[in-house]
Amino acid sequence: MIAYFENLPRRLSAAAGEDDSNTSDETNNDDLKSFGRDFGGMVTSVPAAVIQPSTTDEVASAIRFARAKGFALAARGNGHSIHGQAGAAGGLVLDMRRLAGPIGLTGGPGGPCAVVPAGALWAEVLEWAVTKHRMAPPSWTDYLGLTVGGTLSNGGVSGQTFRHGPQVVNVSQLEVITGDGERRLCSPEAGEADLFFAVLGGLGQFGVITRAWIPLLPAPDAVKWIRVVYSDFARYASDAESLVNRYGPDSFDYLEGFAFVNGDDPVNGYGLVPLDSGRQTFDPDRLPQGSGPLLYCLELALHCRHADDKRAAEMLKPLGYVKGLEFCAKVSYVDFLSRVNHSEAEARENGTWDAPHPWLNIFVSACDIVDFDREVFRKILRRGVGGPMLVYPMLRRKWDQRMSVSVPDGEIFYLVALLRFARSPPAGPSAEEMMAENQAVVDRCRSAGYNYKLYLPHYRDQSQWAVHFGENGWSRFLDRKVRYDPAAILSPGQLIFSPEAPPHSR
Ligand SMILES: Cc1cc2nc3c(=O)[nH]c(=O)nc-3n(C[C@H](O)[C@H](O)[C@H](O)COP(=O)(O)OP(=O)(O)OC[C@H]3O[C@@H](n4cnc5c(N)ncnc54)[C@H](O)[C@@H]3O)c2cc1C
Repeated sequence: MIAYFENLPRRLSAAAGEDDSNTSDETNNDDLKSFGRDFGGMVTSVPAAVIQPSTTDEVASAIRFARAKGFALAARGNGHSIHGQAGAAGGLVLDMRRLAGPIGLTGGPGGPCAVVPAGALWAEVLEWAVTKHRMAPPSWTDYLGLTVGGTLSNGGVSGQTFRHGPQVVNVSQLEVITGDGERRLCSPEAGEADLFFAVLGGLGQFGVITRAWIPLLPAPDAVKWIRVVYSDFARYASDAESLVNRYGPDSFDYLEGFAFVNGDDPVNGYGLVPLDSGRQTFDPDRLPQGSGPLLYCLELALHCRHADDKRAAEMLKPLGYVKGLEFCAKVSYVDFLSRVNHSEAEARENGTWDAPHPWLNIFVSACDIVDFDREVFRKILRRGVGGPMLVYPMLRRKWDQRMSVSVPDGEIFYLVALLRFARSPPAGPSAEEMMAENQAVVDRCRSAGYNYKLYLPHYRDQSQWAVHFGENGWSRFLDRKVRYDPAAILSPGQLIFSPEAPPHSR
């Protein structure tokens, strides 16, 4: 175990019972500061120390040390949170990327599983599974530079969610170190089922996930990738909902969608749609007269096992998109799942990857989504957000209510994700302006009485968390905290509990 710290020389590893020959006390503020920032770029929470565990035992001893000394401790995946959720100001950060080791393959009654260290990136899981075994987990995120432990602590959603459920339901067993430093294996069947469900979507509150068993399916070779454009949101939503409700040979394997500006603004407009911008062009003359300020793009994919062109054409026939505004490409499965790499490279190049990202993710019930379009997309966000505005449906029954994630009522709800990639002022709006716009969106949801929940939630005090989880959900959350982390040392950056404000079960 390597520990970087300031003002805590040697004491840390010595007290943790570790050989401190690997411990660096020259490390410096810059290292600590870099662990105090995240992708959001708006919160700085510099830790007292960063611990880089290479084994599960080292995670356990770091947690026991933190508890004994009264430090808060955050597991940090790849730091892709927005509001400092993986930080621990003045506390300890566990750099889980160090726990990325080899991925294993195991069999079982449910079929093959990948046994994955929690600090592995999903990109590493993809590479291992497809190139070595021609298999793949069924459920992904859009971007794969996230850790397995990080997305399992939140949800993990993408275009496969309507079919296979989020990543949190595509895991069969977990190894977890709870707040008392105990290592526990948990699964719905083999024991500790409550801990298993608590940790999934548990925002890092109940334990540090060190390994996950992820079921695998045969991987397709190629994917037919399709985008079609709508000018009418109600038709877009009705087609998308009928597609997510379909299961069987005429179901797509992936469904997402996004709103974009009806104009040639290079960041928010037509250019977002073509799949191969070198060869495909968006012809606005195809749009019906009187189209509004925003248009909608439904994004679909079929795996190659049934990706023949005739079949895809048949499946598109009943849809009410604008004819002539359809875009198709055939790509390898790995290229399809890695499709965001290209946008990442572009954003790194133009500086927007390192600028602040006041992102907002909301789940909005299908019964409110048409009103949401009218009041939020077409009023508050009609000029776009400097990046994708995702809006696509998923099925509530594919989520497991025993888990800690909170989702809206009703059979279908939409993910609305405002993925802002704005240039820093003066070229773009300030982070404060973007945050104010996010607040206006949330205020509108509240005042209109929409049935919604924040995804990747961020609140400042317990009363807001209690509202987020609802009465039963909050009392279950409190009970679980008392059971698994009574000293409230874990994941202080979520601003739910702290060692100074531990939980009291009801
Ligand atoms: C560019 C980008 C694209 C994204 N795309 C998607 C997407 O398509 N779908 C989606 O669902 N989300 C997406 N997200 C959100 C992402 O899932 C969350 O931000 C997630 O928290 C990031 O993972 P991370 O590994 O960096 O975790 P971190 O941000 O480091 O940690 C997140 C939280 O989990 C806790 N945590 C981390 N590791 C562990 C562990 N091993 N055990 C217990 N707790 C732990 C941390 O303490 C913290 O509270 C995206 C984010 C970004 C920045």
